[in-house]
Amino acid sequence: MSTTDNAIASAEAHSAHTYHPLPVVVATAEGAWMTDVEGRRYLDMLAGYSALNFGHANRRLIDAAKAQLERVTLTSRAFHHDRFAEFCTQLADLCGMEMVLPMNTGAEAVETAVKTARKWGYRVKGVPDGMAKIIVASDNFHGRTTTIISFSTDHEARADFGPYTPGFEIVPYGDLTAMRAAMTENTVAVLLEPIQGEAGVLVPPPGYLPGVRELTRERNVLFVADEIQSGLGRTGKTFACEHEGVVPDMYVLGKALGGGVVPVSAVVSSAAVLGVYRPGEHGSTFGGNPLACAVALEVMAMLRTGEFQQRATELGDHLHQELGLLVGGGAVQTVRGRGLWAGIDIDPGHGTGREISEKLMERRVLVKDTHGSTIRIAPPLVISKEDLDWGLEQLREVLRG
Ligand code: PLP
Repeated sequence: MSTTDNAIASAEAHSAHTYHPLPVVVATAEGAWMTDVEGRRYLDMLAGYSALNFGHANRRLIDAAKAQLERVTLTSRAFHHDRFAEFCTQLADLCGMEMVLPMNTGAEAVETAVKTARKWGYRVKGVPDGMAKIIVASDNFHGRTTTIISFSTDHEARADFGPYTPGFEIVPYGDLTAMRAAMTENTVAVLLEPIQGEAGVLVPPPGYLPGVRELTRERNVLFVADEIQSGLGRTGKTFACEHEGVVPDMYVLGKALGGGVVPVSAVVSSAAVLGVYRPGEHGSTFGGNPLACAVALEVMAMLRTGEFQQRATELGDHLHQELGLLVGGGAVQTVRGRGLWAGIDIDPGHGTGREISEKLMERRVLVKDTHGSTIRIAPPLVISKEDLDWGLEQLREVLRG
């Protein structure tokens, strides 16, 4: 048995089968490239679902992490530490907001956003106790906790996990009329991905996000933007909401905030919203730990240069131009996306998304399928144009074949 087969067989035997990974076992990685246990190199066109926007083993992030490892890594929030204020101040500033509530994973941050919106609803808006409602969109993906899957429309994500958490209204994504109709005096928040990543990189119709902004402002409802996957450079702006000139009431961030080095997530909002908390009402042992803060501070320093947003814009324009040429020519039905982020719908007659991903893997390009016949392209923003073109050439060959 090969080293690869051995590793996969052991993983199959001893880990719960919640994923169906491509049969590659990565040993090392740098920039946009990964090397497997047998020494084969692969171009990473997924970037850890956008957690690796700055590439694998980014020198600045590794150095920041190493320096912090030697100082202090965890205090818990029982004590202050000397990276915390800097992290919160800079993150609030990056978001144009006032306060930060740090967590670790994306799902935890979404849970935090839900709790915050409810508490704000009761304490500030005056919603009767236990009546708060949050409007979400169909085909959303916000994480895997019991509450979050309670408002998922994905059968696989929900089945056998009930009873479900009440308090959510689901409306079709992109449909402002439906959202308006769903809103009552007990609505405390609208929770949306400005671009739906897991749904296949779905960009809402122009005017939708500004419409949601206007409606939520009119009705004293919080607009919560889950920018965990869309934010921090991926679309060519720091936040995907910026493309529509929209500033939400709350950003939910994760993934790239930890640079693919450590899990770092956060809810960022105004003092009027995050100011509702008192000690003991919410928390996390690891949330805002010194190592996480040190890495996230370096992430923010890189974002402030604008270099990564610019790369995502320029390489993204090129990506969409090239992918556009494939549409209608056989295998490719539709291409969507923004910046260095694309969803490609494959004609099922040409194979499933999984089959296309496996063929690409044989050609040393790693992507991931979603929802049967869609593949997603989201390479690290540090990818070179030559490497991107090489990856696209492999895609063309696979789709041709
Ligand atoms: N929200 C969005 C938009 C996501 O894309 C994801 C993960 O893919 C999450 C939340 C959940 O993040 P995590 O897997 O870190 O819990």
